[in-house]
Amino acid sequence: MYDVSSMKAEEFISDGEIRDTVRYAEEHKDDLALVDEILKKAKLRKGLSHREASVLLACTDEVKVREIYDLAEQIKKDFYGNRIVLFAPLYLSNYCVNGCLYCPYHLKNKHIPRKKLTQEEVAREVIALQDMGHKRLAIESGEDPVNNPIEYILDCIKTIYSIKHRNGAIRRVNVNIAATTVENYRKLKDAGIGTYILFQETYNKEQYEILHPTGPKHDYAYHTEAMDRAMEGGIDDVGIGVLFGLDNYAYEFAGLLMHAEHLEAVHGVGPHTISVPRVKPADDIDPGDFDNSLSDDMFCKIATCIRIAVPYTGMIISTRETPEVREKIIRLGVSQISGGSRTSVGGYAEEERPHDTEQFDVSDNRTLDEVVNWLMRAGYIPSFCTACYREGRTGDRFMELCKSGQIQNCCHPNALMTLKEFLIDYASEDTRSIGEKVIEKEIGTIPKENVREIVKEKLVRIEEGERDFHF
Ligand code: SF4
Ligand code: SF4
Repeated sequence: MYDVSSMKAEEFISDGEIRDTVRYAEEHKDDLALVDEILKKAKLRKGLSHREASVLLACTDEVKVREIYDLAEQIKKDFYGNRIVLFAPLYLSNYCVNGCLYCPYHLKNKHIPRKKLTQEEVAREVIALQDMGHKRLAIESGEDPVNNPIEYILDCIKTIYSIKHRNGAIRRVNVNIAATTVENYRKLKDAGIGTYILFQETYNKEQYEILHPTGPKHDYAYHTEAMDRAMEGGIDDVGIGVLFGLDNYAYEFAGLLMHAEHLEAVHGVGPHTISVPRVKPADDIDPGDFDNSLSDDMFCKIATCIRIAVPYTGMIISTRETPEVREKIIRLGVSQISGGSRTSVGGYAEEERPHDTEQFDVSDNRTLDEVVNWLMRAGYIPSFCTACYREGRTGDRFMELCKSGQIQNCCHPNALMTLKEFLIDYASEDTRSIGEKVIEKEIGTIPKENVREIVKEKLVRIEEGERDFHF
């Protein structure tokens, strides 16, 4: 039985409701009157239900599909302007007791070297990341109560926040670790984390249990209900996601939106971010083994429909994707990307990108400076902003601000000020010269005159050596 407000995984992610939704979408995909009605609702920018969004995803009418893409682009512009927030993943440990069939860190992989960073190594990684210009990290770790207990993760967070190398600082640590207890989520909250991120991998329970044959992650309900426990533990910014390619994309899409609806219904606040990773090659992983792999076009259409269905939610894409796909998908809805990523444990402190402990192959191998340069040439403002959670704008306070459109008054100036810091401290000459022009031009687009004047004054102070201004 489907119940959006139930606290039981199998009721708020009801298999029956998903299958009905996918069937309904197939049957109505080219019912143009219905598609028009859904688009009309979507234009109000208040989101769509999983059923409505599934119809748009299934729609094949060329004219309507164009309209769907145009609307997503417009919503993206309205909510996020031309800003793209940058972050980097930091792998702490690849010890893992789980058996996930799509990840090379699974317990049975005996030839991948196992590594766990010491606090000195964490510090080295953080210095390397700060020297690239990063301010926002997502820490990643396998699940292993002996090697990576919660105390280890908390120590790492403390170390990360304590390092201040030259003008560098990591100002927001997002955490991507296995589903855990309310008590542990409370500890993470107290450690000052930004978003707690946990990918569902697949919402299809049957498939989930096959793909996670062993280890604590095998428990579908415990995993699926993790965000409710995180919220109970006081973390009000949570990030959800699906590993596309594991199961039928239409099924996953409906499940993902149902999860977002559940969080909104029960906690009054939907997911802070939605990630759209795809299965990629890695040590002993061949994406061809999963028969649900999807084309770049469908992948982009999924991001488009997510943008329309949950306009207030940040959308994240990683370096798993090629620069071409990233360029297209940024236009359609993605608001955060990783840059200069290394997906191995201890990878940033090494001269060359090490491959032996990588979680997946990186398809975008550019440096952070190159990514920043590319974004600006493509008309975007790269942002290193981390202001919200530091200003206490999390959970429903954040969503309120977002929905009222007021957040724009913070994001835009913060993007310019953090970009200025990057240009002075870390950018190549070419990137700096492009960036200065971008800032010059974009200051003029700040609507409020007093804010414009404050930003101008802060930019001068950044040039004089001060750091970390934000609204
Ligand atoms: S996906 Fe996560 S839990 Fe699964 S094997 Fe990899 S690191 Fe472990
Ligand atoms: S002001 Fe808040 S929402 Fe805007 S970019 Fe910064 S952290 Fe994100």
